[in-house]
Amino acid sequence: MTATDVDVVVVGGGISGLAAAFGLQKSGYAVELLEAQPRVGGVIGSRRRDGVLYELGPNSTLDTTPLINELLDDVGLRQQRAEPSAAASIRYVVRDGKPIPLPTSAGGFLTTPAFTLGAKLRLFKELFIAPTPPGVEESIAAFVRRRLGAEFLDYAIDPFVAGIYAGDPERISVPAAFPRLLALEQKYGGLIKGQIRGARERKKSKEVAKNTAKSFSFRDGMQTLTDGVGRKLDRVRCGVRVRRVEREAPERFRIEGEQDGATFVRRARAVVIATPAYAAADIVRDLAPGAAQALAAIEYAPIAVVAAAFRRADVVHSCEGFGFLVPRKERRKVLGSLFSTSMFAHRGPEGTVLFTTFAGGRRDPEIAAMADDAVVRIVLGELEALVGAAGPPLWTEVVRWPQAIPQYDLGHLARIGRLEQAERELPGLLFCANYKGGVSVSDCIKNGHGVAATLAARIGAPAATGAVAA
Ligand SMILES: Cc1cc2nc3c(=O)[nH]c(=O)nc-3n(C[C@H](O)[C@H](O)[C@H](O)COP(=O)(O)OP(=O)(O)OC[C@H]3O[C@@H](n4cnc5c(N)ncnc54)[C@H](O)[C@@H]3O)c2cc1C
Repeated sequence: MTATDVDVVVVGGGISGLAAAFGLQKSGYAVELLEAQPRVGGVIGSRRRDGVLYELGPNSTLDTTPLINELLDDVGLRQQRAEPSAAASIRYVVRDGKPIPLPTSAGGFLTTPAFTLGAKLRLFKELFIAPTPPGVEESIAAFVRRRLGAEFLDYAIDPFVAGIYAGDPERISVPAAFPRLLALEQKYGGLIKGQIRGARERKKSKEVAKNTAKSFSFRDGMQTLTDGVGRKLDRVRCGVRVRRVEREAPERFRIEGEQDGATFVRRARAVVIATPAYAAADIVRDLAPGAAQALAAIEYAPIAVVAAAFRRADVVHSCEGFGFLVPRKERRKVLGSLFSTSMFAHRGPEGTVLFTTFAGGRRDPEIAAMADDAVVRIVLGELEALVGAAGPPLWTEVVRWPQAIPQYDLGHLARIGRLEQAERELPGLLFCANYKGGVSVSDCIKNGHGVAATLAARIGAPAATGAVAA
């Protein structure tokens, strides 16, 4: 066999690629990570303006698995974790034009004005509704409407789906996007029964369910995580846009890209593609045409993020809480907004409040494509109406993600099946990004962590492969 440069090339330096590369390196593989942009992190990025910390992408993530702290310990970041304020447990949903705190207990649920009495009584019917028949793929909207009723879909699930996927619940697949919900239904016969009877089992597991997990970030924002993991990797090369991967021999992939206008080539025993699906489709077009077709079919929702800082005195709402989500039924122009200076302490100077507002998504994709001043006008109008932010703001910043979040639409698992088939047919090729196994940062960490074990099973243990060209 002709020598390879490294054991594994990881293409894409978002949190998925970083976590995968770190796990592989920890297992003893010689790894090189190639990232198209000048810095690693992907959609994760933190900035400061006038002493206020704001995020370009995720503002926090959920502490769902011990693997997160394991990674933070390995890279020396545990001490920099920022825990949410007590107020952050309050989450609001907009109903009739006002943010209403969502209940956090059974007692609170009975008295909350977030749902009508009819919707609360409808929940009991869930106990008598049969589970989804095997092999049926339902949208989350159809599933929730059938099991919990239309109002629960409109005021709980629709805003939740907007908050995670910027998505349309009528198109998102239950088995692909909410496999735990489906498992609960299948195992216990219903969601309420599963909630009660499954409690003991969940207690035994080290994993924490997303609905009970706590959020966390870092003192200097989420970028601490990606910068920190990137620093611990032996070989990271930014500014390399990978164009294609081909297989030269059973255990040798040729990875070709471009850096500063010149061709860049690496050879490796394995390659982990950790770019968004649309980029991965181009990269593997010749190598795995079936997988490329499936990747190209994964749609993304666009998002415009608007950070808007106000003087505290200019905002009527207490802003105590995590933020608010907006149901589609309310016919407003934003998906939701985070009370960023309330979620975590020390995010800005005393007397300043920061809202991080999300607009666009599948609900209003045209808003995410508007000029900055038009998006800002829309967001400021909604903040004034919903939380009494009368302004004028101290400053605003617009961040645009034309292809922000992959949509786990109906048919998604069949598409992922085609990727897995390509992985089996081409041992050493692996896909690892947020279109597979969950979109949250914690899911990406968990999936990245699993790559080393999967690769060991496919190509065997790390081998001495010689040094990488400088
Ligand atoms: C606005 C927004 C808000 C979010 N909020 C939250 C939140 O609050 N909590 C949460 O848990 N999750 C949140 N998410 C989701 C989460 O942040 C993402 O799913 C996750 O960070 C994606 O990581 P990734 O590595 O899979 O992809 P990416 O971050 O997209 O990284 C892919 C990388 O591949 C690189 N790349 C692309 N093409 C090539 C190529 N040809 N060659 C080399 N490199 C290439 C890109 O430059 C990029 O760095 C949010 C996402 C967005 C966009």
